[in-house]
Amino acid sequence: MLSSSINSALRGSSVIRAMFNEGREMAAKFGAENVYDFSLGNPVTPAPEKIGTEIKRVIDSYDSLTIHGYMANAGYIEVRDKIADNLNRRFDTKFSGKNIVMSVGAAGGMNAIMKSIIDPDDEILVIKPYFGEYRGYVTNFGGKIVECESFKDSFQPDLADIESKINKRTKGIIINTPNNPTGVIYTDETLKALSALLLKKEKELGTDIYLISDEPYRELVYDGVKENFLTGFYHNTFVVYSFSKSLSLPGERIGYVVIPDEMESAGEVQGGVEIAIRMLGYVNAPSLMQRVVAECVDEKTDVAFYDENRKMLLDALTEYGFSCVKPQGAFYLWVKSPVEDEEEFVNAAKKYHILFVKGSAFGCGGFVRIAYCVSHETIKNSLPGFKELASDFGLLK
Ligand code: PLP
Repeated sequence: MLSSSINSALRGSSVIRAMFNEGREMAAKFGAENVYDFSLGNPVTPAPEKIGTEIKRVIDSYDSLTIHGYMANAGYIEVRDKIADNLNRRFDTKFSGKNIVMSVGAAGGMNAIMKSIIDPDDEILVIKPYFGEYRGYVTNFGGKIVECESFKDSFQPDLADIESKINKRTKGIIINTPNNPTGVIYTDETLKALSALLLKKEKELGTDIYLISDEPYRELVYDGVKENFLTGFYHNTFVVYSFSKSLSLPGERIGYVVIPDEMESAGEVQGGVEIAIRMLGYVNAPSLMQRVVAECVDEKTDVAFYDENRKMLLDALTEYGFSCVKPQGAFYLWVKSPVEDEEEFVNAAKKYHILFVKGSAFGCGGFVRIAYCVSHETIKNSLPGFKELASDFGLLK
């Protein structure tokens, strides 16, 4: 018999995955070109050419044991050194490979951190709307998710609400900027104020409160916005990174965690995260991909491609009367539902073979998320359907 937690996960299961499956069924019925599936954050831009070249080079240059064998749980030190150098060049940091732990994507990194810091009933704060998978990452280890508010127009975190929710059981707060699902980037002002708040609360309560910065969209920013790096803002910061979106490698499961020297008992925490990786059964991040990404840290995905999608969708939907948050990063458009129950809106869109995800999957009803990491044609061809949808809801003037 299944455990009660898996049973309830099966019932509540990922809304996003369910939509993705529905899209596949629709595509089989109506033809893939007639279905506009905006449900999943699966990047459509190809991985940079260098990824393929490096895979071949790595296979040709090492013996089998060196590429495919076991290694330290944190990953190859030469790979971690290269990642540290890359961060130091870009963000004026002073990391060495010892500050980096290679992980099984961002999800693997987040789970290793949660396993390392959570005791049963400890609380992890998240800011609405948030990536729904955080619920599992926290409850996997007996922790509790505590939802905090953001401001409804800017979707910047509401610091007064966060302050009111911090107590002795607060182990950390997850932030994600550029944000999935809003596309919003938290301002420097907000991040500095959040850091000051966490520092104040640590002193008041005599505890460590970790800032866990989940950054799979770090380089996916538009309009020349500067990429942030948070370890400079607050001492107890974990940075979690993934190559899933930045190099279009989500199936390869490769990322890393940064543990800065400034973190309280950094060496011990580092050891804890490494043991957690082993205890969780990941053992280490995929070995071949570690060697590959080490040579591809300066590669970039085609941000201009997503920017074109962003503009096309934002301009058209705004013209049709939808109220959208202008994305500053990532590849999601956050749209206000024209009716209170956004599920009605999601279901109405299916009539035009358009699939997107309800906001309540991100802890924030009344909105929907449109993932525009799709082909230009998908966007173009979906627009007449969006126009009809706007007309159905009386938005079109
Ligand atoms: N965090 C956020 C905010 C995401 O959007 C995703 C994937 O969509 C992840 C984490 C998981 O990333 P990965 O595929 O690297 O595990």
